[in-house]
Amino acid sequence: MHELSIAEGLLEVVNETIKTHHLSQVSRIKLKVGLLTAVVPEALEFCFQTLVKNTPLENTKLDIEIVPVRGKCKGCGEEFLYESNDDFCFLCPKCGQEIEILTGRDLIIEEIEGEEEKDENTSS
Ligand SMILES: [Zn+2]
Repeated sequence: MHELSIAEGLLEVVNETIKTHHLSQVSRIKLKVGLLTAVVPEALEFCFQTLVKNTPLENTKLDIEIVPVRGKCKGCGEEFLYESNDDFCFLCPKCGQEIEILTGRDLIIEEIEGEEEKDENTSS
């Protein structure tokens, strides 16, 4: 399953952030998922919740925003916006040239919200 490896990768980044920023807990993770990644938000959330079960990240909320695909024709320069994978095509409907993808291919961790550890805990 595609989403499971993404959730694992996400967890790695979160754990790294917890270490570098000395966070005691993470309340929310904000994700921007490009439409072309074909990630199903519900599946990703399910995988994430399964992975963090019985860990300190158990109550972390996953906030997933789908980023539509924006493309620009290399021929005529026309820009296109696709809100759904079904609409998407790689060739310009106007002139038949290739469409360059500008957004919608990436998965971006936009924000990791957490609480920093209290000073008295840093001595241990
Ligand atoms: Zn075109």
